[in-house]
Amino acid sequence: MPEAISLSDRFYTEGEYPCPVCRHGRITAMPLMEVFACHFCQHIFTTNFEKQLLKMADSQLPLTWYWNGKNWKGIQRESAELGWSYAISAIAFIILPTAIIGLGSYLFPPLPDSPLSWLPLFWTILTFIAHLFCLLWLIIEYYQLPIFLYFRAIRRRLVGN
Ligand SMILES: [Zn+2]
Repeated sequence: MPEAISLSDRFYTEGEYPCPVCRHGRITAMPLMEVFACHFCQHIFTTNFEKQLLKMADSQLPLTWYWNGKNWKGIQRESAELGWSYAISAIAFIILPTAIIGLGSYLFPPLPDSPLSWLPLFWTILTFIAHLFCLLWLIIEYYQLPIFLYFRAIRRRLVGN
């Protein structure tokens, strides 16, 4: 209930808030503009102070959050019910090619003392890793996760700079 939020806890143009995307940076209003931006991941957001909403502006996805006075609550997207079919496709994308190659080398095993007898197993594992990598990359791109900025922040912290 927005009425329950005291005025100081409200999402308003002068405030500074945690970034709902990277969960590391802070978002503040950009000077002379109607938008908020994160100083860490550089994402840009449009605002609706009346409804206490923050919407990601530089993404094709309708990502929206509601400010409850302390933190951001993600608002479920309409495509949420597609989740299961995506999950099944993702698993099939990894399992099927791996299974086909694994089955091939199982049905037609190499001669045990041939110099390339390690290749079928290696190829099966490589197929699995390559497809897993494709999927992870898609997820990172889909949610616009600032993965390289995370690595840079971790490195900065380790180096102590
Ligand atoms: Zn951010």
